[in-house]
Amino acid sequence: MRPEDFPKEIRPFIIPKHQGELIYRCIGCGLEYSIDELLYTCLDCGQVLLIYDLNFEHLRNTPGKIWRRIFDYRKMLTIPALKGIYLYHEFIGPVIPLESVIYLGEGHTPAVEANDFLQEKANLKFYFKNDGQNPSASFKDRGMASALSYINFLVQKGQVSDVLAICASTGDTSASAALYASFLQPHVKSAVLLPHKKVTPQQLSQPLGSGAAVFEIPGLFDDCMKVVEALSENYNVALLNSKNAWRILGQESFSYEIAQMFEYDLENKVVVVPIGNAGNITAVINGFLKFYEAGIINSLPKILGVQSEHANPVYRYYLEPDTAKRKFIPVAVKPSVAQAAMIGNPVSMPRVIHLVDLYNSLSGRQNVFFIEVAEQSIMDWELLANRNGHIACTHGGESLAGLMAAQKRGVVDSRDVAVLDSTAHTIKFAGFQEMYFGQQFPPDYNITPKRELINTPVYVHPEDLDKVPAPGRPLAGEALDRFVKRVAAEIAGMLELKKV
Ligand SMILES: *Cc1c(COP(=O)(O)O)cnc(C)c1O
Ligand SMILES: [Zn+2]
Repeated sequence: MRPEDFPKEIRPFIIPKHQGELIYRCIGCGLEYSIDELLYTCLDCGQVLLIYDLNFEHLRNTPGKIWRRIFDYRKMLTIPALKGIYLYHEFIGPVIPLESVIYLGEGHTPAVEANDFLQEKANLKFYFKNDGQNPSASFKDRGMASALSYINFLVQKGQVSDVLAICASTGDTSASAALYASFLQPHVKSAVLLPHKKVTPQQLSQPLGSGAAVFEIPGLFDDCMKVVEALSENYNVALLNSKNAWRILGQESFSYEIAQMFEYDLENKVVVVPIGNAGNITAVINGFLKFYEAGIINSLPKILGVQSEHANPVYRYYLEPDTAKRKFIPVAVKPSVAQAAMIGNPVSMPRVIHLVDLYNSLSGRQNVFFIEVAEQSIMDWELLANRNGHIACTHGGESLAGLMAAQKRGVVDSRDVAVLDSTAHTIKFAGFQEMYFGQQFPPDYNITPKRELINTPVYVHPEDLDKVPAPGRPLAGEALDRFVKRVAAEIAGMLELKKV
């Protein structure tokens, strides 16, 4: 629909005009910095930053009711820059002109309601929000669209040139960074650092295919992160990890979409997210806070952050009920099928601590909960979800396992409606399914495959058939007839089919 065809009261807002005044603010000491340069940590105290809009008050001049209609009407626009996360431009990047926005199809991922079987198991209504249906098949694309749109803006202004974008990754960050950087050839090149043999073959193929320089490093993600930090502190590179606050801004779109999907009524809603480096939960919390402060939503949903027993530093931190006594201790991670979340020292932990306090206090009660789940339960729930119509990755399985554990603990009840973040596409993590079905899990995963969830292919080659087709050697005539008949009979026998 053309802008001039929208209702009169919406028309002035349909194309974003808000002039944001964005700054980096240090989570530790509160110092503010201009966004003219790419900055990742406070120059004074070294703490991580978040981006704030000094003109945020301005957004409150527009009533929540109008905002809700603006976002709903904007879905009818055909302008590419407003088709993805920048549908919420005023809240995500109100300094980035639409001409600088990179849209590769990210955002507005489907929320699929679970079938009766799964909802009965959970004893509440729930949806999987399939962030695996983003262009590089994970939610990371939301943050990359934001970070690379900003870099593109700086390139277009002539403020930076020949950018080398780098990141450490458990697989999905590098896939996404390499994809978005490749779109900006030749102005932006990318290099990614991966822990050797700790990303799946599918994830490794992605940055290779996008033409990034790919480096495999001994050790785990936390080690790669240290190397990338050393590079970004000492060399002229753009860091694309979620330490980069632009990533957080883009990922807030996940919350805005959930608000919009429920027609902005978030009473009795629960949002479940797996936690690794804690950038995603930071963004999800901050997104809801911003919509709440702008009066677009009137209540804050419950948030469940889920971690595996094998990588649970955030969960452990919040085990201590006395806030004064809480102390963050990094953990040594063990092998996890939620491999993209196998992180012992999350970079965004200070952001989480800061925002969880604010979220709970604005909610007037504890409204963010942290849940721990076993590796076994992650795998079992992933497989069961997918046997019931979903495309959940292991982290989506972790979300579902977390919901089940929360139900047991009484953190959620049957009146709640939950949205589970399925953070990537199941096919990225097919290797774990293969290990499960092949009963080949190394012992340190602590996973024993359940017979009823195992599925393996059956090779059909009747013993009395001496001729079977092969590539380049097709069968014909009687031989083909016999082959088709025998194989069909064999399959019919195994499936116990009845004759018509
Ligand atoms: C990155 C990632 C996570 C963890 O998100 P954080 O922002 O690091 O907490 C979870 N699932 C998948 C599939 C990921 O790629
Ligand atoms: Zn500081």
